[in-house]
Amino acid sequence: QMVGLIESGKPLTEWPQAWFHIDNTLHKRGLLLETDLSPGEGLQALLARGWEEILAEIVQSKLRGRGGAGFNTGLKWRLCKEAVAEARYVVCNADEGEPGTFKDRMLLQQYADTLFEGMTICARVIGAREGYVYLRGEYRYLLPHLQTILARRRQTGLLGKSILAKTGFDFDIEIVVGAGAYICGEESALIESLEGKPGIPRSRPPFPVTQGYLGQPTVVNNVETFIAAAHIAYKGGAWFSSVGTVESAGSKLLSISGDCAAPGIYEYPFGVTLQQILQDCGADNVQAVQVGGPSGTLIDQSAFHRRIGFEDVSTGGSLMVFSDQRDVLDIIYQFAAFFAHESCGFCTPCRVGTTLLKQNLYKIVTNQGTRYDMAELQHTSELVRRYSHCGLGHTAANPILDGLQSFPQFFERRLIQRDFSPHFNLDAALE
Ligand code: SF4
Repeated sequence: QMVGLIESGKPLTEWPQAWFHIDNTLHKRGLLLETDLSPGEGLQALLARGWEEILAEIVQSKLRGRGGAGFNTGLKWRLCKEAVAEARYVVCNADEGEPGTFKDRMLLQQYADTLFEGMTICARVIGAREGYVYLRGEYRYLLPHLQTILARRRQTGLLGKSILAKTGFDFDIEIVVGAGAYICGEESALIESLEGKPGIPRSRPPFPVTQGYLGQPTVVNNVETFIAAAHIAYKGGAWFSSVGTVESAGSKLLSISGDCAAPGIYEYPFGVTLQQILQDCGADNVQAVQVGGPSGTLIDQSAFHRRIGFEDVSTGGSLMVFSDQRDVLDIIYQFAAFFAHESCGFCTPCRVGTTLLKQNLYKIVTNQGTRYDMAELQHTSELVRRYSHCGLGHTAANPILDGLQSFPQFFERRLIQRDFSPHFNLDAALE
């Protein structure tokens, strides 16, 4: 029985309070998770006010994509609406594969009705008749639950032909299950996979918003984004943007895991400090926090004053806590192994580079590395970041570069005590 439970197994009512001082007001409730939205309420607001007004609310809300990239949602919907098209599509990215992220799973378990509502509102705004949920392969077990909710929505006139008896308002949703590739979380690879092809990221532009699924304009949004949009349609843009920061309106769900007393899913207004989060989840003696999964940012103790938000520490929803009992280099090695495994192999800098990074790190982890290997690690990381084709390669070396900068002692203490570097100029050798 998963419904009503969070990761740590506590009932919803016993969640640790995620609270935050903003404008000197104490907010104890999250925007999305503690707001009641009955099935159809968002759609009724849409039909009462018209899609133009609802799009204006989404724009006013300043909602940005919750998957990590943070593109303005209202602008994305408008661009899709304005693109020349034979058909338009709505796609929900439910391929939650970033290690340490599990909040979309909870949303799919407990708030699927609101997700489908958000997708249907988007369809009405952009003029789409078909929508897809691209479900992470490992979440296949959620399929019966999601199908049940879709069937109920069709029976109650919230999906299918003439939604809420409005002639011409036709929209339905199909669920497509992925095959477990991390790269399919990248929206253009996701679309390729949806079309039945290997999940290899496309060159962009053109962006999916003008040429997406089957070459037609497509809105791809994350689970959390569609749920936020459904709430905004009902409660308004001003309600949503009343919390958060200038660049990051609203709240953010975080999957918190690692060395803390109360791991789980928390909802915070954007702008919350890492220090506050660590205090709330009962984390002591923390030496590092990985925000945004392995592709995100590895942050050391001296920067726990930093804030969650697009203008500071951006995250799709993962926050991993590491106590001072952990060896940071082991963690970085695990992340490097993950990227070497998940590289789709399409482009050389990432295919070869991520494997070289893993091998190089292995050498250091097993006490066989020298300063030359550290220099090479830095150099290869920069090549992979700069020349890779897509976001996976651009970010694969982040943990290594962050580690070299903030935790060099973990590398240095594993080096063998022979130092070849004074006599060797790596840059000259590579030229
Ligand atoms: Fe594939 Fe990596 Fe190149 Fe992206 S960067 S296209 S994941 S090989």
